[in-house]
Amino acid sequence: MIDLEKRCAEIRSRIDKAARKAGRNPEGIELMAVTKTRELPELIEAWEVGLRLFGENRVQEAARKIASWPAERRAQWRLIGNLQRNKARKALELFSRIDSLDRLELAFDLQRVLSETNRKIDVLIEVNTSGEPSKHGIAPNGLEELLEGVLQRCPNLTVRGLMTLGPLNADPGEVAASFSLLRELRDRVSKEFGLEMPELSMGMSDDFEIAIEQGSTCVRLGRALFGPRE
Ligand SMILES: *Cc1c(COP(=O)(O)O)cnc(C)c1O
Repeated sequence: MIDLEKRCAEIRSRIDKAARKAGRNPEGIELMAVTKTRELPELIEAWEVGLRLFGENRVQEAARKIASWPAERRAQWRLIGNLQRNKARKALELFSRIDSLDRLELAFDLQRVLSETNRKIDVLIEVNTSGEPSKHGIAPNGLEELLEGVLQRCPNLTVRGLMTLGPLNADPGEVAASFSLLRELRDRVSKEFGLEMPELSMGMSDDFEIAIEQGSTCVRLGRALFGPRE
């Protein structure tokens, strides 16, 4: 608990410092606790030290934790991992936002379920800005088509912005280039489609300060908060 509290305080001060250095207001940057592989007691500790926004990668894993989550502790859950089409319905039960929409068929599945109750949900489109084949996300040159499809055929999805993962083991210049590409893509498509797309979810434990410099509005931190994963 002490450790998590201390790490959390250190991270918040690094976020503040990076924001100030970039001439930004730190309040415009959300801190998401990425809780994949962590069990409920650790999540509750995270809540106790003030974290309220949780990101999970897998629907099943999240379902198990959210089912036993103490309801009086108010928290927000977002999906940040690849979503299989057959888990769209379950994902909509669990998460308040899907941050990893990366293909039109999945958007149609979400739309179909949402239209049953006329519920709306916010989403981010995940873009593969690094070109690494192991990563999910739409290729930058497919973004316009995906966005157009969502706008035309998925009225119950509201695209709030974009999400990306920086390249692994890259030098800071390459990491910055991948994040600035996301920002440029956002600027371009939001203008083209006349949309407000304020959110840029980018930056993880090893690169969140670079992401803040490049305009991140949500940093997603796992190891920096909880220590190494098994
Ligand atoms: C695991 C993960 C994170 C957090 O990674 P850390 O390096 O532990 O901070 C952030 N975003 C996504 C999509 C992830 O899968």
